[in-house]
Amino acid sequence: MPRITIDGKIIEAEKGETILKAAERNGIYIPRFCYHPALKISGTCRMCVVEIEKFPKLMTSCSTEVSEGMVIRTDSERVRKARKQILEFLLLNHPLDCPICDQAGECFLQNYYMDWGLYKSRFPLKDKMKKRKRFDAGKHLILDNERCVLCTRCVRFTREITGTNEISVLERGDKSYIEVDEGGINNPYSLNIADICPVGAFTSKDFRFRQRSWFLKRTESICLGCATLCPVEIHHNKGKIYRIVPSQKEHRWLCDEGRLTYHKMDRELRTAIINGNAADLPVALKKGGAIITSSLKDSSVALAGSPYLSIEDNASLAFLAQKLLEISDYTFDFVFKQEIEDGISINSDKTPNSRFLRGFARKHGMKMTELNSKLEKGKFGVFICERKTLLQFFPRIDEKTTVISFAFEPPWKTPFKNEIIFPIPSYFQKEGSFMDFKGKIKKTTPCFPASSKNISEYLREMVGGGNKANKEEEQEFITKLLSEL
Ligand code: SF4
Ligand code: SF4
Repeated sequence: MPRITIDGKIIEAEKGETILKAAERNGIYIPRFCYHPALKISGTCRMCVVEIEKFPKLMTSCSTEVSEGMVIRTDSERVRKARKQILEFLLLNHPLDCPICDQAGECFLQNYYMDWGLYKSRFPLKDKMKKRKRFDAGKHLILDNERCVLCTRCVRFTREITGTNEISVLERGDKSYIEVDEGGINNPYSLNIADICPVGAFTSKDFRFRQRSWFLKRTESICLGCATLCPVEIHHNKGKIYRIVPSQKEHRWLCDEGRLTYHKMDRELRTAIINGNAADLPVALKKGGAIITSSLKDSSVALAGSPYLSIEDNASLAFLAQKLLEISDYTFDFVFKQEIEDGISINSDKTPNSRFLRGFARKHGMKMTELNSKLEKGKFGVFICERKTLLQFFPRIDEKTTVISFAFEPPWKTPFKNEIIFPIPSYFQKEGSFMDFKGKIKKTTPCFPASSKNISEYLREMVGGGNKANKEEEQEFITKLLSEL
C-alpha cells in the first residue's frame, strides 16, 4: 500500500487509488465539477488540480493515481491561484441567475466562488455570451444552457448508465453547448441528471420554484417503490415532502417513478371511509367492531398480511390473528419474481417486503391458494387487510363479505360493496424494517409524526380483548423475530 503525504498528513493509500479518492477517504475535500464517483473519469474541468512534488505541472487529482512517497498539496498558493482562474473562466459567460436559480444554496459554482474565487469581474456584462435558456428537455427536466459549465456529467450518465445517449456536447470553444435529442430525455432515470448537474443547468420540473434548498430538512431513509429498496434522502419542511434524492451515504441511481411516489402523501387520508363516504373514526370503529365480533362467532373472519407493510406490522398482524382474533384463516403467502430488470435499479417486484414474507409465511398462516378458494366460495363475513394488497384480491371477494382495510395512500375509491377504510401512517411518518431482494434488512426513518393510528391499535379497539393479547407480548414477538433475521 503506497504511503503518501497530503497537506502534511501521512496517508496509507490503496494501490491504484486516485489522489482525489485517497484525500476524500481521509477527510480532505478537493473541489470538482466533472468528477462523480459513479461515472467514468473525464478530467475536463481542471477544478481538482493539485501540486505534486517533483511534478512540473499541476495535476488533476481525479485522474492521477497515487505512488509511493508522493508529496501532494491541495491548498497551496499555486493551487488556489489555478482554482481562481478556472472559476473566472467558467463564470465568464455565466448568467447572474443565483437569486432565481433552484440550485442556489447547493451549487458547486456558487460555493467554490465563495471559497476560492472572490475576484472582481473583469468581463463586461454586455459581452456575455447568450445561450438558450430554460427549455423543455424531457418529461421531468428543464435545461438552461447559459448556466452549464460543460462538465459532461449528464452526457456520461446517458452513455454509461442508461445507455440512452440523449445528450451531447455540440460546437467548440465558448460556443460549446449541451444539446438534447429531439423528443427530450425520457429514460426512466432522467431525474438523476438534475441531481448530478453541479450547477442549475438541468433542473427538475417537479422541484423547480417550490422550496429554497436551505429551508429543507434531510432525512436518510429508503424508497419503498420496489424490492430494491434504494437508499434515499428525503427533503422536507414543515410536514411536507419536496423531493427525494439518492442517499449521500450509499449511492444508487433512483428511478423517476420511485422518487416521485411521495406525491401520494399530499392526499393523505385523515378520516375513515365507509362504503365510499367519509366517516368519523369512532363511528367506523364501532361498525367495524360489531361486524368482526359477530363474524368471530361463526368463525368467518379472515386476514391477510401485506408485502407493502413492514416486518413489524406484519408480525403484529400474525400475533393478533393468533392471540386476539384466535383465527386460523390468515395468510402471509405472497411470492413475486425478484430481479433487477434493467441492470440499474428497477426491480420486477414492485412490493418492498415480499422477500421477508416468503420466509415468514412458512411458519405463520395458511397457503394463499387455500385462502383464495375460501374467499371465492364466500366463506367469510369479514376480510381484514392492508388496502394496496387488498385491491389485488378484489375479484375474488364475495359481495356479502365486508372488507376492513387499512390505507396509507390513495386511491380511496372503493370497488367493494361493503368496505370500511381506516387511515394508517405511511413510512414517511414511522419507522419500519423491510427486507430487500437480496435479504438485507433496511429501515425507514420518519420525517414527521404520524397523524393516524397503527393497524394493531385499531384492531384492539374494535375487538377489545387486551388480556388475551397483551402489548408487551406483541412487542416481544416482534423483537424476537427481528433478532432472528
Ligand atoms: S448541463 Fe450540467 S451536468 Fe450537463 S454538462 Fe452542463 S453543467 Fe454539466
Ligand atoms: S428502483 Fe425501486 S427502490 Fe429504487 S427508486 Fe426506483 S422504485 Fe424506488
